[in-house]
Amino acid sequence: MEALLEELLEQCRPYARQGKVATYIPELAKANLDDLGIYVLRSDGQHFHAGDWNKPFAIQSVIKPILLLLALMDNGEEYVRSRVGVEATGKPFDAINVTDQTLLSDHLNPMVNMGAIAICGLIHGASYEEKFQRLLELTRKLAGNPDIQLDQDVYLSEKHTGYKNRALAFLLKTYGMLEDDVEEVLDFYFKACSISVTSQDLAVIGSVLSSHGTLPDSEERVFDREYGNYVNAILMTCGMYDGSGAFAVNVGVPAKSGVGGGIMAVVPTRMGIGIFSPGLDEKGNSLAGIQLLERLSNRLYLSIF
Ligand code: GLN
Repeated sequence: MEALLEELLEQCRPYARQGKVATYIPELAKANLDDLGIYVLRSDGQHFHAGDWNKPFAIQSVIKPILLLLALMDNGEEYVRSRVGVEATGKPFDAINVTDQTLLSDHLNPMVNMGAIAICGLIHGASYEEKFQRLLELTRKLAGNPDIQLDQDVYLSEKHTGYKNRALAFLLKTYGMLEDDVEEVLDFYFKACSISVTSQDLAVIGSVLSSHGTLPDSEERVFDREYGNYVNAILMTCGMYDGSGAFAVNVGVPAKSGVGGGIMAVVPTRMGIGIFSPGLDEKGNSLAGIQLLERLSNRLYLSIF
């Protein structure tokens, strides 16, 4: 398996340089296009890796499934679903999904920014400081890594430049879809996106989703089985934004990308996969990362279809 990962990594290396690093968050523009890493954790406990699997990067949108899990654990499925829908948007990650003409929570989706910001408003805690600590603790628990921290530089960089997300949050407020103070919610969202992880962390989190809620080493249940189904289903239909259809055909597993270059893939009952390659395609998904997953899926028959 390790030899296969090495082989596929070398095949995909040329694609890494064809991607573009995200520049709208200035700190992310410093990423090295040559970084490429993969980590696989199988349900039998065996793990394999290649390349820069241990390099830290900002989790960015890969936090969205964890935010959704925490919102489900705090509020239950019925309430979360009444506030943020489950239909794929078919639009870019920063699109405006509700307007005066389309004013329905059904048009929000937790895997794109507007829906994820609405989800932030559903997390329990006495203060946004406490809410962030709860999110960080859940991320650490799912990844089996107590050392996971906030990347302060990425957080401040995004906080200073997040104009589009501010616009989305103020629209949500206008429409009564966000109860709390807009700047507090945004500060929480920017921090959430700036948590620093490795491919290994994403693979372990993916493996918990692949087992629908149990930790790989202890079998301890972290979340209800049906929440695993809920999150995995939305990852399948919207985890790669407006690239989710092609990804379903070409790779065929639930996955989530982030503009930091991470992809977390979930192969239900079989494995979690974490990938890092910061060169992005025009939809904001890791270009070499998708190439790598396509090849791995073909070789290991990973598609759930
Ligand atoms: N923090 C990023 C943003 O809100 C997350 C987007 C992404 O990873 N696609 O723009």
